[in-house]
Amino acid sequence: MYGCANIHVDGSVCLNKRSMPSKANIARYWKDEKCYKLLNYIMDWGEPSCWACGKWIESYDSDPNELEDVFSIWNDHPYLERCHIVPKMHGGCNCEANLVLLCRDCHKASPDSKDPNLFIKWVFNRKSHFHYVSVEFKEALEVLEYEPKEEDCELFISEEFKEFYFQSAVFVGGKISMATRVACFIEYKKFKGIQ
Ligand SMILES: [Zn+2]
Ligand SMILES: [Zn+2]
Repeated sequence: MYGCANIHVDGSVCLNKRSMPSKANIARYWKDEKCYKLLNYIMDWGEPSCWACGKWIESYDSDPNELEDVFSIWNDHPYLERCHIVPKMHGGCNCEANLVLLCRDCHKASPDSKDPNLFIKWVFNRKSHFHYVSVEFKEALEVLEYEPKEEDCELFISEEFKEFYFQSAVFVGGKISMATRVACFIEYKKFKGIQ
């Protein structure tokens, strides 16, 4: 059956919740086998990450070991967004079973569909964050007409380049585009005299 008129995609009965549950409650609901079996995501309760691509950004707000409720750490990760499996415009509810936690990029890229199984399939099969970063990296190299060398990947993630790049890059809205990073990388190689 389409939509979540009665039964959610995980087989639970819809309670027709109106208000959005906290990220902590969504994580608590999906923990263990449910998110592993349905979403191919292994949840580490104390270390929140995107359920589709696994992207992880450290939050310095709280230490999971000091929290009374370990799941409350999920509320401190603003880059994770509550994402409807069946969108509200298609009659989706606000029950925990109709919500997952995705990074901003995955939320934007995810399909809006009446069929929850298509959404589930998308999350299940989405590749890792590193895959998309390397695709973006290669594309930026190509556009900037730079011939990639074997050692580039290693150099690109090296501490020395990171330092160079933080000194010379301009942050736009706190975010650096891949093209900026790659342009900076090309300058770095010139600066170091590496051909
Ligand atoms: Zn529901
Ligand atoms: Zn993601």
